[in-house]
Amino acid sequence: MKINIAIDGPSAAGKSTVSDQLAQLLGYVHLDTGAMYRLVAYLALENQLSLDDEKAIVELLKKADVKFEDNGDIYLNGNLVNEVIRTNEISMAASTVSKNPLVREALVALQKKIAANKGYILDGRDIGTVVLKDAEVKIFLTASAQDRARRRMLQNKAKGIKDDYEKLLNEIIARDKQDMDRAISPLKKADDAILVDSSNLSQEEVVNKIYQIVKEKL
Ligand code: C5P
Repeated sequence: MKINIAIDGPSAAGKSTVSDQLAQLLGYVHLDTGAMYRLVAYLALENQLSLDDEKAIVELLKKADVKFEDNGDIYLNGNLVNEVIRTNEISMAASTVSKNPLVREALVALQKKIAANKGYILDGRDIGTVVLKDAEVKIFLTASAQDRARRRMLQNKAKGIKDDYEKLLNEIIARDKQDMDRAISPLKKADDAILVDSSNLSQEEVVNKIYQIVKEKL
C-alpha cells in the first residue's frame, strides 16, 4: 500500500533534500511544490509582469508549456529551469507571487491531481493544511533561522555561489514572515503534523527519523 507524505516548514529547513532521500528509500516520487511557485515567479519576471497581476500571471501559466518530471527536472517552454529558479531573487519573488489566490488555486489543483494516485512526498508550506489534508503522514520540519541560514550558505558555497551570512539570514527571516503572515494558506503546522526540529540533527538523522515514522504507518 502506498501513502502520501506531507512535509511542510519554513525556508531552508532541508525539506527538499530530506524529501529526495526519503523518496529514494521508499520508491516514492518527490514533488517540490516550492519549485512550482518559483517557476511562476520566474515566468512573471521574464515577461515583465507585476507579481501582483495574478490574472495575467495565471493566463501566462495556462499558455506555458510546463513539465514537472518525476526525477525533479522542471521544463518551461522546452528549457530546463532547475537552476535559474533557485536564485535568492526568485526565492523572495516566489514568496510574493504565492500570496495571490488565483496562483495558489491553479497550483494547488495541479498538486492534488499529481498526488491523487498516492506514493508521493510533497514538500511546501500548505501541504498538510490544504493540499493533502488527508496525507497519512504529516511532518513539520523546522530549525532556527540561524541554522537554516548557515546551511543555505554551505549549500550555495558547494555550488560556487558566495553569500553574505547576515544578508541571507535577513532574507530568510523576511520570507518566513511573509509566508506566515499571508491571508491565504499561511505557513503553519497542521494540527496532526509531527514536529521535527532539525537544529541539532544531521541530515541523515532527520531522514531516519521521518523514515521510522513512515514505516510505523505502513
Ligand atoms: O520551498 P521554497 O523555498 O522553494 O518555496 C518558495 C516560496 O514559495 C516560499 O517562500 C513560499 O512563499 C512559496 N510556497 C508556498 N506554498 C508551497 C510551497 C512554496 O506558498 N506549498
